[in-house]
Amino acid sequence: MHNLVSQITQAVKDVLFPVFCLLCEDEGVWLCNACLASVEIVRTQYCPVCHRETKGGIRCSICAHAGFLDTHTALFVYGRQYIAEKLLHVLKYEYAEDVMQVISVIVQHACKESPSWLGSAGVIMPVPLHKKRFAERGFNQATLLARVLSESVDIPMVYGLKRGKATEQQATLSKQERMANVRGVFEVTQDVEGLNILLVDDVYTTGSTMQECARVLRVAGAKSVMGWSFARGE
Ligand SMILES: [Zn+2]
Ligand SMILES: [Zn+2]
Repeated sequence: MHNLVSQITQAVKDVLFPVFCLLCEDEGVWLCNACLASVEIVRTQYCPVCHRETKGGIRCSICAHAGFLDTHTALFVYGRQYIAEKLLHVLKYEYAEDVMQVISVIVQHACKESPSWLGSAGVIMPVPLHKKRFAERGFNQATLLARVLSESVDIPMVYGLKRGKATEQQATLSKQERMANVRGVFEVTQDVEGLNILLVDDVYTTGSTMQECARVLRVAGAKSVMGWSFARGE
């Protein structure tokens, strides 16, 4: 019965809001099979502090004692791969949760090829969204991504962070302003003592949000905190 209802709902949605391939504009799906096959995953690893490329995404020698994230990996780079930007835009600003089907296939594929960036991760944890934003959107894109990742690599997902006060949109702020903007925003809600945590977010720009999450997790006793995002800024 539930299946029938969802089939009908989908049929109605297809008529009211037809979907077109984001790359070739063929009707029917967010990304057709031919275009999906052409998507090139870059898997970029770089110092989480200064954004210099490093092996395994570890902190470079200059930043060895800076920041709280041990590594960072992203599947795509904004500006270089239009499709990553497009997929996240549709997900976040057109509230199209079903585009996650395409994103999931890409993430699963990326996990098959080389999961070495997982390092010693024992749990996967999404960067939380403020409850006001969650209410507007109906989902947290970081949680959706963390869930797909968790299923793909068979590492449990846990919620260990809460976002306290709502912050200004980070997009218009400088790196310094972004760091001040997120300072003290996150709260640890779980026992994280001794855990190796892989933090997940949709985009990594200056890294201030993830660095602040990593900071509070470290203070709460986490052994290591690594970062993973679907895309990163240049
Ligand atoms: Zn296409
Ligand atoms: Zn560095």
